[in-house]
Amino acid sequence: MFEDKKPSSTPLSQLGEFGLIEKIKEGFPLEQSSSVKGIGDDAAVINHKEYTVVSTDFLVEGVHFDLSYVPLKHLGYKAVMVNLSDIYAMNATPTQITVSIAVSNRFPLEAIEELYAGIGLACSRYQVDLVGGDTTSSQTGLVISVTALGTGKKENLAYRSGAKEHDLVVVSGDLGGAYMGLQILEREKAVYKVNPQSQPDLSTYAYAVERQLKPEARKDVIDLLADLKIVPTAMIDISDGLSSELLHLSKASGVGCQIYEDKLPIDPVVLGICKELSINNTTAALNGGEDYELLFTVDQKHFEAIKNHPLLTIIGHITESASGNNLVTGLGQQIELTAQGWVSHKEDNLDH
Ligand code: ADP
Ligand code: MG
Repeated sequence: MFEDKKPSSTPLSQLGEFGLIEKIKEGFPLEQSSSVKGIGDDAAVINHKEYTVVSTDFLVEGVHFDLSYVPLKHLGYKAVMVNLSDIYAMNATPTQITVSIAVSNRFPLEAIEELYAGIGLACSRYQVDLVGGDTTSSQTGLVISVTALGTGKKENLAYRSGAKEHDLVVVSGDLGGAYMGLQILEREKAVYKVNPQSQPDLSTYAYAVERQLKPEARKDVIDLLADLKIVPTAMIDISDGLSSELLHLSKASGVGCQIYEDKLPIDPVVLGICKELSINNTTAALNGGEDYELLFTVDQKHFEAIKNHPLLTIIGHITESASGNNLVTGLGQQIELTAQGWVSHKEDNLDH
């Protein structure tokens, strides 16, 4: 798992910037009808018939990822997922991405190829075209910035600001997995430092480790909502943790919310890791980031359609603003939600 680099190492300088761009272009033929012009001109040209939705994120080595346990292919895949997730969170469909990289000479061509193999896998799975980017050098680490473009009908776009009192609060999938996966990887890294011969067996933690290393954007949830003819009143993706996203959503909407601890969806593998590492599972679900699930609100009339759906969990409802943002615990106590748990963990490399 660690330092599993291929021996072949062609210096990037041998290829040059334009040679590299040419190589990237070869691997990324345009598939989308809206992609008019891709890599190779001064700008890409896109023909979107609906509204265009745009989102950008940075991933910086040492801040957002650690290459001692993140394979470059996974990193490329995740860099795309993070951005597609933002487009889906607008209830839109991603169609194109651009990828900009700053690389130090520590990375040979083969490393960049691995990175783009992950980017390519994400593009083909989610049907988006790579239409451009920028390539530059960096003094030390690797920096990746992805911009995603998507489209949506004006009336279908879901902003953070549309939640209304009595709406249902819904999350997709389950929570806390990516955070607990990170805890396992950090633990194994520490063990490896002491004993490089150690061969960690991560199979029992596979679900959580995969949530951290290989997240999936919830295209399936957006497709499901379209099938059910449900337009969320508000939506946001969970990159920084449920608690923090709930606060964003309710603030933007001018409302409050009440959610229930015993409704929070947590996978049994994640519960097991929480127990093993003595981390409270509600804390992991509320404050662990990077799950890239969708958090949204819908009118109560949709209760029957979503209440038993395997992809979705109703975790609470929207209240008036004056009631604040609250968690009702399993014991019936009401606790005010804060992003505090998040803030206090910042040194643990949890700031995204
Ligand atoms: P300019 O000097 O006009 O910025 P570049 O030489 O940077 O041109 O880029 C040439 C073409 O290659 C452009 O279409 C650009 O979008 C694309 N490109 C550059 N770097 C990358 C990259 N890392 N990934 C994908 N496309 C890239
Ligand atoms: Mg350029």
